[in-house]
Amino acid sequence: MTDLLSLFKTTGAYSSIVKDKRSGTLSHAYLLITPDSKNLDEYARIVAKIIVCEDGEPCLSCRKCRLIDANAFTDVKFYPKDAAVKTDDVNEIIEESFIKPIEGDKKVFIISHAETMSEIAQNKLLKTLEEPPNNVYIVVLSTSEFSLLSTFKSRVKKFEIPPYSEDALFSALMQDCPDEEKLRVAIAVSDGTVGGAQTYYSDKGFSAACTQACDVLINMKKSGDVLRFSNKVTALGDAVDEFLSVLLLALSEMLYLNEGKESLIKNLSFPELKNAEGFTRGSIIHAIETTNEAVKRKKANVSDQTVVEWLLLSILEGKHKWQKS
Ligand SMILES: [Zn+2]
Repeated sequence: MTDLLSLFKTTGAYSSIVKDKRSGTLSHAYLLITPDSKNLDEYARIVAKIIVCEDGEPCLSCRKCRLIDANAFTDVKFYPKDAAVKTDDVNEIIEESFIKPIEGDKKVFIISHAETMSEIAQNKLLKTLEEPPNNVYIVVLSTSEFSLLSTFKSRVKKFEIPPYSEDALFSALMQDCPDEEKLRVAIAVSDGTVGGAQTYYSDKGFSAACTQACDVLINMKKSGDVLRFSNKVTALGDAVDEFLSVLLLALSEMLYLNEGKESLIKNLSFPELKNAEGFTRGSIIHAIETTNEAVKRKKANVSDQTVVEWLLLSILEGKHKWQKS
């Protein structure tokens, strides 16, 4: 299993909540912000364990810790019931908060995906957030704070989970993701979250996107090749975005190699790119700028075919233009 706990332990959020627990000053409401939508519940379970485990930190072996991991501890309640937090969820939390804990002395309500809460739902919860019944704790998780009202945020102790370093993610994920090279690339193009790296790693299109990016940079030589290569790239479908991310990563590594700064790259994602011929410093920089522009055009809903053909042709033109400089 991915070792999210070890990563989380390196954050200020984790140490602050543990400190609150140990000094008997737990806040009745915490808000954790992380773009890692895939692992919100796992973060929530860790915070719940800090709150209820007698150790002050998740011991992982007591009855409470084990039951929380199995989503089966009666005093820790998870919301929403569906994908988004609805006013029905909030009504239930308010009602339930008045019922005493069954197994221990603390009751924890977890609200994931708070970014989906309407203003009405947030307003309904304000009073409970501000002054919940005794021994009730509310842990709110959100992928962003933009949709949260300032009155909501002012009633919770807020922490942001910063992106993790590539090395830290690698150590945490290597057991789950045995293909080391693929994992390194997935982490490099991710947003510094466990979920981001996991998503890239396990996505079938991602491997194909890596192959296509290297193929384009090594084997696309003349304008007559553009249509064939762009057809292969657009056949990636949803993974065209990933192709663009991987291409940027590959080009930035080529730039380091070109400038003789190979020692600055700890792990070369695509060693085969040492064989990419005909690129100079100027044409690599041009290709990076062009790829960034392609990302923008794609976001502006220009069709994949148009964007990719334009991109590949521009990369080739750059190669010819900067050939001798
Ligand atoms: Zn425990």
